[in-house]
Formats: sequence, structure tokens, C-alpha cells
Amino acid sequence: SKFSTAALEEPITPPVKVELTKLLINGQFVDAASGKTFPTLDPRTGQLIANVAEGDIEDVNRAVPAARKAFDEGPWPRMTAYQRSKILLRFADLVEKHTDEIAALEAWDNGKPYEQAASVEIPLFVRLFRYYAGWADKIHGLTLQADGPHHVQTLHEPIGVAGQIIPWNFPLLMYSWKVGPALACGNTVVLKTAEQTPLSALYVSKLFHEAGLPPGVLNIVSGYGPRVGAALASHMDVDKLAFTGSTNTGQIVLGLAAKSNLKPVTLELGGKSPFIVCEDANVDEAVDLAHDALFFNQGQCCCAGSRTFVHERVYDQFVEKAKARALKRVVGDPFRKGVEQGPQVDSKQFDKILKYIRSGVDGGATLETGGQRFGSNGYYIQPTVFSNVQDDMLIATDEIFGPVQTILKFKDINEVIRRANATHFGLAAGVFTQNLDTANTLTRALKAGTVWINCFDVFDAAIPLGGYKMSGHGREKGIYSLSNYLQVKAIWVDGGATLE
Ligand code: NAD
Repeated sequence: SKFSTAALEEPITPPVKVELTKLLINGQFVDAASGKTFPTLDPRTGQLIANVAEGDIEDVNRAVPAARKAFDEGPWPRMTAYQRSKILLRFADLVEKHTDEIAALEAWDNGKPYEQAASVEIPLFVRLFRYYAGWADKIHGLTLQADGPHHVQTLHEPIGVAGQIIPWNFPLLMYSWKVGPALACGNTVVLKTAEQTPLSALYVSKLFHEAGLPPGVLNIVSGYGPRVGAALASHMDVDKLAFTGSTNTGQIVLGLAAKSNLKPVTLELGGKSPFIVCEDANVDEAVDLAHDALFFNQGQCCCAGSRTFVHERVYDQFVEKAKARALKRVVGDPFRKGVEQGPQVDSKQFDKILKYIRSGVDGGATLETGGQRFGSNGYYIQPTVFSNVQDDMLIATDEIFGPVQTILKFKDINEVIRRANATHFGLAAGVFTQNLDTANTLTRALKAGTVWINCFDVFDAAIPLGGYKMSGHGREKGIYSLSNYLQVKAIWVDGGATLE
């Protein structure tokens, strides 16, 4: 092999102990009503990390009333916004202080490099809670002019109990995007974590209570999607649903929400984002950026730049260098220093990715490098690069969610716009060019919720993220997420606002 796998034989012991494995209901860590547990596995080995309480419908039926009571009777929506803001800020401080342990849990459960969890995911998490803490006391309605002798104002009220379902690729970041705005607005929450990665959410939620969060405001029901997730989506007493995951599951939960109580739903779903390298690009820089755009987080990013379109004039050179860059990628134990890529999250994703790689080879794409598992232990996959990819190949149409770069060739701007948009997805797009006109044209023409020009995968709490088309409904983060968690009440008072 071109890669060294010897170091994988002895996984490094993660610098953290797993102490919290139960459900969090009404401020208490409790067993599942059924007493059942499910295993969460170490992606480096496939071995058990811990058995975690397996929530089910009965547990959702305990957690939702706890959240309801905390909303209807508890202090959370009644305390001043400034008091809520201070609890969010204290929580952010505690998470920052415990970065090392939290990053270790995240890396262990998910397989992502420990250094990346500590330097990217947790700082973004902390920033998000501080950002929404800042919003808490700046949420207010308007005073309006009606066509008549009335004084009218709008009140922006919390919506109630939010059900939230998150995936495993960024367990903590997804927690923050959901819980941060919901709580800043004064709602209460029942969160379902992904069954692959239940651990870090339990750890930080204990800190949240240390920061002063009242019981019942944030409840966590670990478990499987078709049980816990579906029960939340169809619950008659959940007032709002927020979901991140696959497009298929998004369609299921939207249907359950519609058939139960018509709760509003925000969906952040899959993508097949184009990364467009124009003819004027500095090829070395474009190669590095396209590489990171695809391979970051083991390729398990909803925004991954998973269709690399390269202008024909620089195509051969680009492919050569992209291959060289992939060969240099450091794959290894996520707890080893300098490692860029750890294992995929579980055997299901691992098998799915290898199947896509085989379909690429069988379909006639050129396998430039990689294509195999890495080592013999766990779920590591070699960084893989395909060239001569055609638009209708499965590797160019489907979300692979793995370390597989697909490089397509284009001739002119109009052609690449048409091809980049020829997908049901519309989450993100990247453009690499020095030409302002080209950048402007592409920015307007690409149907995607985010367009990155000469950068990629930059995220911030203040900047919205969300999809066009089948990549989702609504936007999360920034000012946009507030409206997901607020009701608007118009109040008319007779006799106001006229001059005699
Ligand atoms: P998924 O949609 O199955 O899971 C996401 C969440 O939904 C998990 O918490 C899961 O338990 C829950 N869920 C599953 N079935 C459910 C149901 N019937 N009702 C309610 N909730 C349910 O996604 P996955 O299996 O974890 O990953 C599969 C694919 O999803 C990936 O290969 C990738 O394409 C995509 N994905 C996208 C994102 C993203 O950020 N947009 C994140 C993870 C996965």
C-alpha cells in the first residue's frame, strides 16, 4: 500500500472516560422505560465504546411532557431574556473549558481527528452559543401602521416545544445549530441524537445544567430514527420540528409532521455540491482547496464539494496534482497528531462508500488513486480520486459521503452552469477564479443556498446555511434561525395612531 497502516494495529487510548450514557429527561439522567440499551462503537476498531440507554416511543412520551411543563409553567420562557442569555454564555464558557474531554468523546464516537474536533468543531459550537446569547435580549416585534384608527404591534413569542433530530457527522455542531437558537428564543427542546454518536451531547448537556439551565428545558432521547425520531416528528404536542440528515428521511419526517399536527419543519438535507475550477485559476491553490472541500471530515459533510468541475485547459494538470495531494493525505488513528483523516463513522457508511467506488470503476471512470479500505481494522478508506467522470455516473449523481473525489471536465461557463445545476440538490457551490465577471455570473446562476468564491467550507454562527431544492427547507444560523423558533402575534388596539 502507498499508505502506512502499521500504526492502526494499536489504537491510542482516548484521553476521556465515558460516564454519561442515560437519557436526559426533566434534568435527570434516567434509564430507558424499556430498560434497553444499544451499543455505540469505536469506528477505529468496530469494538464497543459503551452501551447507551435506548430511548423509544415511551421515552418520547416522557420527554415531551417534561418539555411542555418547562415551557408552560417553568421559569425558562418567563425569566428575562438577559437571564437566559447569561446561562447560554456560562454554558459556552464551560464547554470551552472542557474542550479537551469533549473533543476526545467526539473523536472517539465519530472517528474524526481529535485535533480537528478541538480546533474546529468545539470553537464553532462555543461561538454559536455566544452568538445566540447575544440575540436573546434583542428579539422584539414591530409597531405598525394599519389603514384605520388602530394601534398595532407584533409580539415575537417562542413557539413552544421543539423536537430536533440530528445526524452523526458533526454531532456537536448540529446540536448547537438546533439547541442554540431554540433556547435563545425561550423554547424548550427534546433532542434526538444520532444512534452512531450519542456521547458528546450527553456530556455537554450536563454542563448546560451546571450553567443554570432549569430542568425540562433540554431533554435528550438517544435511540433509533424510526422509533424516537418518528415519534418526535408525529407527536401532537411538539410545536416545531428541526431535522438534519438524508433527503429520504427528510421526506419521511415532513410527512409525519403534516399528518399529525402540521408542525412547521426545517430540513437540512443532503447535497452534491459543485466545486468549479475556472481556466484562470492558480492550479496549485485550486487543488488544495478542492481537496479540503471534499476530504474534510472524511468526506462526511453535507456541503462537500463532491463534483469537482475543472476547465479543460487546466484539467490534466489539475488531475495530476489532485492525485498527488490525495496520496499525501495523512490517514490514521484520529488521536495521533497530524492525522488528517480518520475512519468513516460505521460499517454501513464504509460499505456504502466502497460500493460507490466499485460502481465508479465499473462505470468507466478512471481511478487515479485509492479505492480500497485502508488497513485491516475498523472503517478507514484510502483517499480516492476519480477522473474522467461523466455526469450520469452514480458517483457524480449520488451523495457518497466519503473520501471520494470525482473530477469532471468542462469547456465553457454556460455549460458548467447547466451541468452544476442539473441535480435535485442545492446546498452549496464553490467557485475558483480570479475573474470578477466570472465570479459574479456563477454566483447568480448557481442554485445553491451557499456559494463560496475562492474559499470553501467556511462556517460562522452569524451566516445562514440551508438548501435550495431537495437540500432542504429554511435556513439555520444567523438571524434567519430565529424565525424558525418564534411565533408572530399581531395585537390590534382600537383607537390609536390617528391625528385629530
Ligand atoms: P438519516 O437521515 O438516516 O439520519 C439522520 C437522523 O435521522 C438520525 O438521528 C436518525 O436516527 C434519524 N432518522 C432516521 N430514520 C428516521 C425516521 N424514519 N424518522 C425520524 N428520524 C429518523 O441519515 P444517516 O443514515 O445517518 O446517513 C445517511 C445519509 O444521510 C448519508 O449518507 C448522507 O447522504 C446523509 N446525511 C446528510 C447530513 C447532512 O448534514 N445534511 C448528515 C448526515 C447524513
